[in-house]
Amino acid sequence: MLALLDTATGQITPFEPRDPGQLSVYLCGPTVSGVFHLGHGRYAIVWDTLRRYLTWSGLEVRFVSNITDIEDKIIARAAEEGRSTDEVAARYEAQWWELMDALDVLRPTVDPHATAYVDDMVQLVSDLVARGHAYEGADGVYFSTESLPGYGLLAHQDLDELRAGARVEVDQEAGKRSPLDFVLWKKSRPGEPAWPSPWGPGRPGWHTECVVMSLDLLGEGFDLHLGGLDLMFPHHENERAQAVAVGKAFAQRWAHNGMVVDERGEKMSKSVGNISSLPELLEHYEGRVLRVLVLQAHYRSPMRVTPEALDHAQGALSRMDNFAREARGLPVASPDPGTLARFKWRMDDDFDTPGALAVIFGAVRDARADPARAPALAAAVRECCEEALGLFLPWEEESVGKEVADLIAKRDAARARGDWAEADSIRSALQAMGYVVEDGPEGTVARRQG
Ligand SMILES: [Zn+2]
Repeated sequence: MLALLDTATGQITPFEPRDPGQLSVYLCGPTVSGVFHLGHGRYAIVWDTLRRYLTWSGLEVRFVSNITDIEDKIIARAAEEGRSTDEVAARYEAQWWELMDALDVLRPTVDPHATAYVDDMVQLVSDLVARGHAYEGADGVYFSTESLPGYGLLAHQDLDELRAGARVEVDQEAGKRSPLDFVLWKKSRPGEPAWPSPWGPGRPGWHTECVVMSLDLLGEGFDLHLGGLDLMFPHHENERAQAVAVGKAFAQRWAHNGMVVDERGEKMSKSVGNISSLPELLEHYEGRVLRVLVLQAHYRSPMRVTPEALDHAQGALSRMDNFAREARGLPVASPDPGTLARFKWRMDDDFDTPGALAVIFGAVRDARADPARAPALAAAVRECCEEALGLFLPWEEESVGKEVADLIAKRDAARARGDWAEADSIRSALQAMGYVVEDGPEGTVARRQG
């Protein structure tokens, strides 16, 4: 059984699912305001791989991940583009799922949207006010962090330490009593999207949606809450605080993935050159290259991304692709048990994907050195890659039908003459037929979705 570091306790302990044989998981999903960078790609790939591995290990995984479709960044983007917030959210949500398909990330079991849960959020905020854990200020309703003993558990700091480090955003959130307090409900200014509430028209604060949706869809005491390390404080702390304040058992354990950093070790965000934008990266590299890149780093470590690191991942993937092609003629065999056992041993030890990839590369080397063992080793590599890592190699002859081949040729011609609208519409047509479409160095590459 997988043992994973629990951020709340700092201990690496095996899972003990609330319901035997099942695992209930919540992952904080994207705000669909149009800025998707490699950090989004990393968390999506890391937790998709964890989900696939747990499923391969025999657990039934219920994987809930939300879409934040109302938030300040979406309102700002809507104003910039002269569109409604609904249009902006729908457009970038569609882009998000396209990116996830290109990365072979499975769709969540349920993908709740914040705007569908506003009534429930109003209910939670009312409950918090009634219990004395929240108060109304001039511009919104705030959670009183001082009212909750144990606030700071995830950050491993007490209230005084947190307070010393807190920045007061004076202009925004003027109604706060303490810098650590956080907004539960924002009163709307004229022209902003608004829902009715006991405190007048407004919209929910970001920290409230995940509490309401995770408890509704997974129930109290669900097994595992996931997210990026940048969300641990304050977002996850604030989620937990609200659940505890209304007397509900929240996530049993927490896991956080490390950040994507540049050469200097600084957190990469949208502003760092073209290699941080996820859509732009996927113009130059296959989604599978990014998966190899991500899995080569331990999920909790900072991931350094440089052009050399990307080339290295590309090289590693090419070697695996070549091996899979060479293995096509081999007789069918059952997977080598030693390789499977070593792979599992690595993965079960706090999700050591770099170690697990090393086991796979070792098996590839052994298969080349010892033809008698090659069929069993190839079968083990295939099972580990496809079932546990979500990494799809060309084990079978890739034959696209004539219709698909024609569309690919038409799309390349459209791109060559700069007709992007036509190229995009052919891409959509191929996607509708179940293909992942990528722009490779030699033109359009379409492959069946994994
Ligand atoms: Zn969240």
